[in-house]
Formats: sequence, structure tokens, C-alpha cells
Amino acid sequence: MGVAFPDSSRSARPDSTGERSEPGARKGRRSTPPAPTSLFSLPMEHPVKDITIIGAGPAGLFALFYAGMRQASAQIVDALPEAGGQLAALYPEKYIFDVAGYPQVLARDLVKQLVGQAGRFGEPIHLGQRVTGLERHDGLFVLHTEKGDYPTKAIIVAAGIGAFSPRRLPQPCAEPWYGRGIYDIVTDPKQFAGRRVVIVGGGDSAFDWATQLSGVATHVCLVHRSDRFRAHGATVAQFQGDVTAGRASLYTFHELNDVICRSGSERFSHIVLRDVKAKTTTEIEADVVLPMLGFVSDMGPIAEWGMTFERDEIVVNQTMETGREGVWAAGDVTTYPGKLKLIACGFGEAATAVNQAVHWIYPEKKVAPGHSSNMALFGQKDD
Ligand SMILES: Cc1cc2nc3c(=O)[nH]c(=O)nc-3n(C[C@H](O)[C@H](O)[C@H](O)COP(=O)(O)OP(=O)(O)OC[C@H]3O[C@@H](n4cnc5c(N)ncnc54)[C@H](O)[C@@H]3O)c2cc1C
Repeated sequence: MGVAFPDSSRSARPDSTGERSEPGARKGRRSTPPAPTSLFSLPMEHPVKDITIIGAGPAGLFALFYAGMRQASAQIVDALPEAGGQLAALYPEKYIFDVAGYPQVLARDLVKQLVGQAGRFGEPIHLGQRVTGLERHDGLFVLHTEKGDYPTKAIIVAAGIGAFSPRRLPQPCAEPWYGRGIYDIVTDPKQFAGRRVVIVGGGDSAFDWATQLSGVATHVCLVHRSDRFRAHGATVAQFQGDVTAGRASLYTFHELNDVICRSGSERFSHIVLRDVKAKTTTEIEADVVLPMLGFVSDMGPIAEWGMTFERDEIVVNQTMETGREGVWAAGDVTTYPGKLKLIACGFGEAATAVNQAVHWIYPEKKVAPGHSSNMALFGQKDD
């Protein structure tokens, strides 16, 4: 691979406080944060965790569970408003067929299971906050996000393809209305009750929201630049049923052309659509526009943390070391010879990363975790 990785068995440990000087002293109980150092004697809104995971996709969620199983304190930070990574943001209604133990599972349902498992030890998932920086002081990291500062002993980067942002409408006429009638993230469908909603897009999110809102909004109109949809066939068929029943309308080969606000109102009442083939325009009533145009992703400051990147992927070795001491990686964000970007592989990489990090923080804890089926933690007895 051409990248030198530190030998973790010889690397400096983040225990300058000396609290782990007696091997085995922690066995069987939860680890406690190191004593405050000079930096952390300042009030910190979040307690020091053993492991902070960047990303609440499948790899990060499994890492959170696994850290708890290794009796390490942990937390996740994620830019998105909900957990699940690509599964939740890009294909919640698609079936997945290649996750062991599930002959087939909806992405949305797999996320639910992963979140349930990740929550077993009560560790937090901090959503809706993009990572903005990383500092290291006195043997601890402080991970900065848009909403807080998270002191931590080790980091696992499970950032997938990076932080997603919704793709914005390209028409300049849309820009002033973001937050005032144009919304690219739907948090509560009930807010659109009694509204005339226009959804722009032809993928899963567009059709998922079109079908969900057609029972809530006064009227739902879906606008797409072509007649080819990248959405689950069953959802498209369901929406076409709503159109036939008069609850919804569909404009193919159309795009947004203008937003109309009459009589000095703060809100718009109509939009103009343009037929991209015939070059004609049509004005329709609309209170809300929801652009569902997919996401753009960005690795952000993570790319500047001194790790080796190949394209947007972190080069790791077989123990998921990144080349930066105290930082491991797992899931789609990693690359190594033979790498497969699959959920199943991310799970294994997450387990490896957590086991390595736990041993690095607490040398008295073995890398090998033992079998969960024998763990007293789960109320089991040794064979
Ligand atoms: C349409 C589609 C279908 C797929 N089907 C399958 C399939 O059938 N089987 C299969 O195995 N795989 C499938 N995949 C691939 C699978 O979804 C990925 O392998 C998996 O999601 C990777 O998980 P992850 O946890 O590594 O990363 P992601 O799922 O990408 O999650 C990463 C998380 O990190 C967060 N993040 C990134 N950067 C930051 C930052 N700077 N600050 C804060 N948070 C950040 C993101 O918001 C995101 O939530 C499919 C992918 C797509 C797009």
C-alpha cells in the first residue's frame, strides 16, 4: 500500500493521567474518563468518551454497539437529522438482499434494527451536526461539530462518502424562498397539512414523500425533468394511483421556471413550470416546494487530519489504522487492497476498529473480544 502505519503496540497511549497503571483494574466495569487535564478543566458540555464515531451509517451504528459490548464509553456524531447513513438518506424504501441473517430487508427496517442494537448501552447519537474540526491536547482529542465539542480518547471515522447536503434547485428564482416555502428536508409531514405541495425530483425520496404527503396535503404535484424514474416500482405505481384518483398530479418533462408571490405576501401562492421539450410554461397553485434532488457529499475537514486519502477514501491497514494515531476508520470511507463497499464488510471493519481502539486505550483489555454468546454482560454464562 506504500503507507507506513504506526505500530499500535508501541505507540503512546492517551493515559497520561496514569489512571490505568494497574493492569486488569478495569475488568468487568465500565471505563471512566481520564481526570481533567488543563484543557478540560474548562466546563465541557459533553463528557469525555473513550471512542467517538463519526457517522451513523451501518458501520458507525454497529461500532457504537460494539464499543458498548467492549465496555467502552462511546458516542456518534452525524451531519444528517436521522441515523442510517446512505440507507436512510438515499434508499430507505429499497430492499437489501445481501446482509447476513436477512434474506431480504427494507433499508429503513435494517436501520431500525441497527439503531435498536446500537442503543443497547444507552450511548448517545448526536445528529444534525457536521464535523468541523479536530484538536489534540494532553493525550485527548476534542472533536468539534457545528453544535458542540466532544472530548474523546479515540476516534473511529465511519463517514462513508462524506457528509450529505441536499442538492439545491439550480434556478436562481428558488433561492430567496428556501425556508419560506421551499424546504429540502422534511422533518414533520404534518406541517404540510392543508397545503398545496409540489415535489421536484424522480427518485426514491421524491416518490416516497409524494405518496406519504398525498394523504396529508390538500394536493401533491410531482415535477420531473424526464419520464424515467429512479424510484421503487411499487411506490411509483402507488403514486400513479393517487394521480388517477385525482389526489395528485404529475408533470413529466417539466422543471421549475418561476416562483410567484402576489399582493405583497410573505409566501408564494403559485409557481411556473416550464415544459423542457415544448418550451411552454404553465402556472400552478403551490404553497410549498420540496426539492428532492438527491444529495451532494463532502468529506470536509476530515480530509485534512493527516491521514492518507486515495480519492475520497482513507487508506487503512488490516487493523483499520489510518496512519493517524488514535484514529481508526471503518465502512465505505476506507480503502485497502480487495476493499468491497458493502454493508456486510463495514460491520466487520467496525468490529476490528473498535477492538483495536479499546486495546489501544486500555492495554489490559485484549484485542480479541471473546464471544458475545458467553458474555455476562448479556446475562450469559461461560461455556
Ligand atoms: C442506492 C444504493 C443501494 C445500495 N444497496 C446496497 C446493498 O444492497 N447491499 C450493500 O451491502 N450495500 C448497498 N449499498 C451500499 C451501502 O449503502 C454502503 O456500503 C453503506 O451505507 C456504507 O455504510 P457506512 O456506515 O460506511 O457509510 P454511510 O452509510 O455513507 O454513512 C456515513 C455517515 O457519516 C456521516 N458523515 C460523513 N461525513 C460527516 C461529517 N463530516 N460530519 C458528520 N457526519 C458525517 C454521513 O452523514 C452519514 O450518515 C447501496 C448504496 C446505494 C447508494
